[in-house]
Amino acid sequence: MSQPEQFEVLVLGSGTAGKLIAWHMAGAGRRTAVVERKWVGGSCPNIACMPSKNEIWSAKAAHFVRHAAEFGMTTGPVVVDMAVVRERKRKMVEAQVAAHLCNYKESGAELIMGAARFVAPKTLEVTLNGGGTRLLSGDKVFINVGTHAAIPDVPGLTAAKPLTHIEALELDDLPRHLIVLGGGYVGLELAQAYRRFGSRVTIIEHGSQLMSREDRDVAEEIQQILSEERIDILLNTEVLRVSGRSGEEASLVVRTPSGERTLDCSHILVATGRIPNTAGIGLEEAGVELNERGYVRVNERLETSAPSVWALGECAGSPQFTHISEDDFRIVRDNLAGGKRSTNDRLIPYCMFTEPPLAHVGLSERDAERQNVKARVAKLPMSGVLRAQAIMEMQGFMKVLVDEADDSILGFTMIGPEAGEVMAVMETAMLADLPHTRLRDAVLTHPTMAEGLGPLLAQVPARAAEQAAARWAAMERPRHDFPLSYQIKTSVRLHTDCRSRKTDACDGFPALSRCACYYRLDPCAALPCRAKVIPQRIDQHHHTVCRSARLGRGARDRAQCHACALSSESAASSQHPGEVPTRVKARPHRRPAPRW
Ligand SMILES: Cc1cc2nc3c(=O)[nH]c(=O)nc-3n(C[C@H](O)[C@H](O)[C@H](O)COP(=O)(O)OP(=O)(O)OC[C@H]3O[C@@H](n4cnc5c(N)ncnc54)[C@H](O)[C@@H]3O)c2cc1C
Repeated sequence: MSQPEQFEVLVLGSGTAGKLIAWHMAGAGRRTAVVERKWVGGSCPNIACMPSKNEIWSAKAAHFVRHAAEFGMTTGPVVVDMAVVRERKRKMVEAQVAAHLCNYKESGAELIMGAARFVAPKTLEVTLNGGGTRLLSGDKVFINVGTHAAIPDVPGLTAAKPLTHIEALELDDLPRHLIVLGGGYVGLELAQAYRRFGSRVTIIEHGSQLMSREDRDVAEEIQQILSEERIDILLNTEVLRVSGRSGEEASLVVRTPSGERTLDCSHILVATGRIPNTAGIGLEEAGVELNERGYVRVNERLETSAPSVWALGECAGSPQFTHISEDDFRIVRDNLAGGKRSTNDRLIPYCMFTEPPLAHVGLSERDAERQNVKARVAKLPMSGVLRAQAIMEMQGFMKVLVDEADDSILGFTMIGPEAGEVMAVMETAMLADLPHTRLRDAVLTHPTMAEGLGPLLAQVPARAAEQAAARWAAMERPRHDFPLSYQIKTSVRLHTDCRSRKTDACDGFPALSRCACYYRLDPCAALPCRAKVIPQRIDQHHHTVCRSARLGRGARDRAQCHACALSSESAASSQHPGEVPTRVKARPHRRPAPRW
């Protein structure tokens, strides 16, 4: 092997994390090289996020024009010229690539265009796109090779040359009938876009719901929205075989719950998942291990099994979003500077850019259930948001999960206009550990979508213990004249006493039954804890109350008072002759003052 060219920093793949680490290191004066086989800047600006959002925007324009009459405008027949749509997208991509090249130049990182593979630890052989090879070695090596679209193993599918997202975003003619295999985020975004351009669209999903990782109500809402645009959706459907060729004529034999069917189409788009670009690049030569799914095995600091070799972004199994690849870069950068950052504790927000979009951050109901996290859930239809009413875009909902034990926000999901922007507000509150009540009571601009967070959070149910207390209070109230507020306050006060002094297990009213304090001896065992507390407390106040003749049920309770056999004489003497618990005796100032 000839002598490799030596770099301080060597990056394989110019995806989001790869280019950022290269620019950062080169900018700090390190001799840096990046090897990229095709896409300057990686997938995001060339073939994924940016171009898809560009064409989705064109599709939105087509949708608006088609519905112009609703807005009081008259247009002729709407014809979409896909060549123009593509040209607009290409211009955007070219501008992105130019900006990337500028960054390479300014940072001093060398961009080497070619396909690379490891031939030894920390050593790459590059087959240059322009011909020839180069051998490069790095003191520190960063792998950021991304993923590619998986093509399911269905007879005839590969031969049919289906589109992936890359070719779909390069179409210059409109598919007559586009069949989308896969009901995930990529498939749904493109399905709706092509429907809005004017194609007939059918989505085939083998699972029982779209977006298998989402809560069922979220998946059903999106399904409803897409169905209203007359996209056909086949769930629980398996593709058995394909014949013909995408771009011409093709047919698919599918098994649906109601039997086998044959679907004819002009184009097939495959969006059934991703495969890491880790095969055939000599990782075994470099001592870099893969996990059972073919992703680079990394620890929470994104270090691989090989010393001084890191893997970042999708190829390292990180959640498949550009902002996560960027955060991977920040973790590695900070740790190289002596930090202690980890991938474990980060919030993962994401959006699906359908219309209306879906945005999510933190825990879903499904996550909470799986992780056994007790959460209170509130949901607000978008028809309850004034901004949505104003613009008459009322599909979707907002949903929030709040911790049962405290008021922290655990997760947020929204389907509705500007969902991603509203989610950022929620995410900020979560990062700041704001109790949901702070955001609920915040003054938010009217009429914005974010204003809907107020009514949403106002619907967060009270904690289970508070609900139990309220139920008890409602149940007891007709029997005496204690105002509800006093009852609740009393029990809260007593509970606080218990928790702070007598037991560490008493972290909620029901836990009072485990409490070491005397209240657990209360005979009222069948009732929730708050109910157990209050009768005792009422008993203790009972004498005062009876004396002052303000308790309507005095005679009955006097007879039943198990703390003392109170006579009207002893009551009048303000001496308590019965067995009042020591704690209460010792701390009379802690008794709640009743308000009448
Ligand atoms: C259609 C679509 C839409 C998406 N939309 C969004 C979105 O809206 N928001 C979002 O956050 N995420 C979106 N994503 C995901 C997002 O694009 C990726 O998560 C993001 O680009 C990060 O990728 P990465 O940094 O891991 O690698 P990539 O950006 O994929 O970069 C890897 C690079 O490595 C190069 N490479 C691979 N092997 C070699 C080799 N042997 N030699 C040389 N070079 C090599 C590749 O050519 C590529 O340029 C979308 C994805 C798709 C497919």
